[in-house]
Amino acid sequence: MAGPRLDNCDSMLVSGIFNVRYLTGFTGSSGCVLITPRKRYFFTDFRYRQQAAREVRDHEVRIVGGPALTGAARYAMARRIRLGVLGIEGADVSQRSYRELRSILKGIRLRDVSGTIERMRAVKSGREIRLIEQAAAICDRAFGRLVRKQVTGRTEKEVAWLLEGWMRQDGSEPLPFEIIVASGPRSALPHGVASDRVIGPNELVVIDMGARVRGYCSDMTRTFATGRLSARRLAMHETALAAQAAALKAVVPGAPCAEVDSAARKLIEGEGYGEAFGHALGHGVGLEAHEKPTLAPRSRERLSAGMVVTVEPGIYLPRTGGVRIEDTVVVGPGGPRALTRFARDLRRLK
Ligand code: ZN
Ligand code: ZN
Repeated sequence: MAGPRLDNCDSMLVSGIFNVRYLTGFTGSSGCVLITPRKRYFFTDFRYRQQAAREVRDHEVRIVGGPALTGAARYAMARRIRLGVLGIEGADVSQRSYRELRSILKGIRLRDVSGTIERMRAVKSGREIRLIEQAAAICDRAFGRLVRKQVTGRTEKEVAWLLEGWMRQDGSEPLPFEIIVASGPRSALPHGVASDRVIGPNELVVIDMGARVRGYCSDMTRTFATGRLSARRLAMHETALAAQAAALKAVVPGAPCAEVDSAARKLIEGEGYGEAFGHALGHGVGLEAHEKPTLAPRSRERLSAGMVVTVEPGIYLPRTGGVRIEDTVVVGPGGPRALTRFARDLRRLK
């Protein structure tokens, strides 16, 4: 794998653990990378000696004492490695680590180059897309099982546990985030993690979940009905569906992310629910469930082929309830390709 192109620095200390995993394949929780024009190093401590030998590719592995980041800095100084302007991930380095780095790296110019590796990560390889697709298929199958199960009368937590159990048995690693099961009035909470509320008949149920395969996440939301819904709630679901379709049409390489967001937002505003869609339309998905790019009104990013993003319009009305439909899609020249495939229309839960 070619090393990352460094634009604003000569060498770089990569400490964000997902960035480290991306560059090296290391799955442990403590390690950092030093990229210089001549060589790439991976630093960790002795607990990970064997794991690093097995997993790390394209980097020289060095075992250091103490935190990997300061260990790397000491190593570079002791070996007089030419660093030039050294980029660091300021967004990831604590103030305390920064002070230590400063005192170790005497005479070295540091520059905050946060986001460099995240921008690379936004465009996925074929292998990465296949793993996200596998994670998405695990969610699809769990939804397929849920619609055959008795849900009314169970608590949201019980439903979340059923889903989690199925997904883990089906090969998911620990889920990327806690499953959201938000029923009845709780469906109006965009982030309603499953509670002890008993799901009743004739309610909306919003379920948002992801699976993880070899580190790669999927993210998906479906809104269900436990019986008959009022005309108003049905109309909300129709509007979210239409907004998602409008946004998906705008998902093409080169499109400004803000325009994709506005394709959905305008439609929702046009139906009179403008205030009720208070979150971003979507986000990138990969090693993290939320990563670059962001599909939001103020986003300044553009889509490129190979990005994997969610498209998830929602409408939330206190008391009435909420709806959200979320799919994980790959951006391609012919338009988006959905990796999450369970039916988007309003399905009934028993
Ligand atoms: Zn989600
Ligand atoms: Zn999401």
